Amino acid sequence: EFDERLPIAATGDELEDLGRAFNGLLDRQHESHDRQRRFTGDASHQLRTPLTAIQGQVDLALRQTRSAEEYHRVLTVVQGKTRHLRQIVEALLFLARADAESQQPPLEPIKLTDWLREHMAAWTGPRPDDVRFEAEGGDAPCVLAHPTLLGELLDNLLDNACKYSEPGTPIIVRASRDGDSVRLSVEDRGVGIEAGAVLHVADPFFRTPQARSRDSKGLGLGLSVAARLAKLFGGRLDVESRPGRGSTFSVVLPTATARPPLDQKSVSI
Ligand code: ADP
Repeated sequence: EFDERLPIAATGDELEDLGRAFNGLLDRQHESHDRQRRFTGDASHQLRTPLTAIQGQVDLALRQTRSAEEYHRVLTVVQGKTRHLRQIVEALLFLARADAESQQPPLEPIKLTDWLREHMAAWTGPRPDDVRFEAEGGDAPCVLAHPTLLGELLDNLLDNACKYSEPGTPIIVRASRDGDSVRLSVEDRGVGIEAGAVLHVADPFFRTPQARSRDSKGLGLGLSVAARLAKLFGGRLDVESRPGRGSTFSVVLPTATARPPLDQKSVSI
């Protein structure tokens, strides 16, 4: 591995440009290594915590004969921790597969307004009375997405809006046109996110201190998955937030007409 940055002489010619380009590449490679190292460290830590708890409970149960109630209690803890581990592993597997980019899900045109109306009618989240759906400026155009995965993405944003705002405050789901794109947003009047943290909310395992104190069970993986899904649909995830006032998370997707649909009959080689 070559890790020496090149000394740059201000010669003003192609050699200087080349040297700068090379150093830029090297910096990016280092950043990517650092990110990878941090990710591996965070993931190991997040997997170890529930494993330690499981081992502790099992060791305790095996040390001496216990009553049926005590076994039941131990197994209930083990069940909860195992579920938690499973959620982490499922999210990590999704991120790893999405990074490999070999598994593009089949996308189909979705009439966003109709789809949203149906999705919200079937939504079984914790605060149905607080959640409102608004379609701005008539029906939103069609987007290219995978309906089940788009549902997962939206539910993720809705779950967060519910977790990070007080019951009784409104949560607004909106679909609106934005140039050649469609914006599907979830707005809350909750705790909000400090400016320094906004850029990191989609980093795997990142959680703000406010989030940790409100909800101890969070994994810090939902938005990483949501951002990755938006990318799979050819779009992106946007965040706008004011601490103490609230947040708006938007999925921005190209309209189905802005890009020809993928020919699903063709074979990837
Ligand atoms: P989790 O909710 O499990 O912590 P996420 O990946 O969904 O994981 O979110 C990462 C972090 O982003 C949260 O811990 C929280 O700090 C912040 N966040 C996400 N959604 C909101 C929201 N609607 N309001 C305030 N903070 C949010």
